[in-house]
Amino acid sequence: MRQAGSIQLGGLTLTPLLDGYFRLDGGAMFGVVPKPLWEKRAPADERNRIQLATRPLLVRGPAKGSAQAATMLIDAGIGNKMDAKSADIYAVDRTRNLSHALEEHGLAVGDIDIALASHLHFDHVGGFTTKDASGEIRPTFPSARYVVRAAEWEDATHPHERNRASYLQDDFVPLEAAGVVEFFDGDVEIMPGVRVRWTGGHARNHQVVMIEGGGRTAVFTADMIPTAAHIDEPWIMGYDLYPMETLAFKRAFIREAIDHEYLIFFEHDPTIAAGYIREQDRKKYVEPVLSD
Ligand SMILES: [Zn+2]
Repeated sequence: MRQAGSIQLGGLTLTPLLDGYFRLDGGAMFGVVPKPLWEKRAPADERNRIQLATRPLLVRGPAKGSAQAATMLIDAGIGNKMDAKSADIYAVDRTRNLSHALEEHGLAVGDIDIALASHLHFDHVGGFTTKDASGEIRPTFPSARYVVRAAEWEDATHPHERNRASYLQDDFVPLEAAGVVEFFDGDVEIMPGVRVRWTGGHARNHQVVMIEGGGRTAVFTADMIPTAAHIDEPWIMGYDLYPMETLAFKRAFIREAIDHEYLIFFEHDPTIAAGYIREQDRKKYVEPVLSD
């Protein structure tokens, strides 16, 4: 299997990593789209689940306000804390995981300076914390500051019946106890050329990450466009709390992405790590740039 490569955007190096695979219910992944349509794009197994990946994005470039380089990780996959019952429900397969991926690029957990969360669902920030041999939960990246939208932290630490299964407190509460969380409000710049953009939709404070360098733009679309199969506007996850916000975002964003040739990093696509959204005869498709 070929290791996905890197993309150079001016002074920024973007490398999609892999924290393994998992499966979610195909119906829930495509919302109102009927199964005869979605199963052509994403075949279901005997439990009606489709194959997904978790692909955290590594961003290396100049640090803010300093000549030094910074290494940032956007999201960190499911991590190693999941119990056996949940791991079976979600068919978690971390045979190839984030520590392998870091190693393949000559990095270790201690090299991550910034860990940025798109939002705090378990398949995005499970890897932010690790359970050690004694059963203690601690930050996975010992030198990192963990950068989180304050309003998302508020929602994640006060879950309701509809989102409780997605916000696992052990993924983020131990970070605050360790004093390593940095909160922000609004669409701020995290590193030179890297800024967050609020979307809502999937969760009230879900955000994507816009990355600009060398006159080009790349976007980590997280759960707004989780796979290449989701580029059609009404193909919206049943998990979304505010699907009409997702629709409004996708309508504007996908047009923008086609017109400006944004390179899209798909966090959950089982094979395509990055690609361009193209349009021909009013049909949209993805031209893969990095896949495995
Ligand atoms: Zn997700």
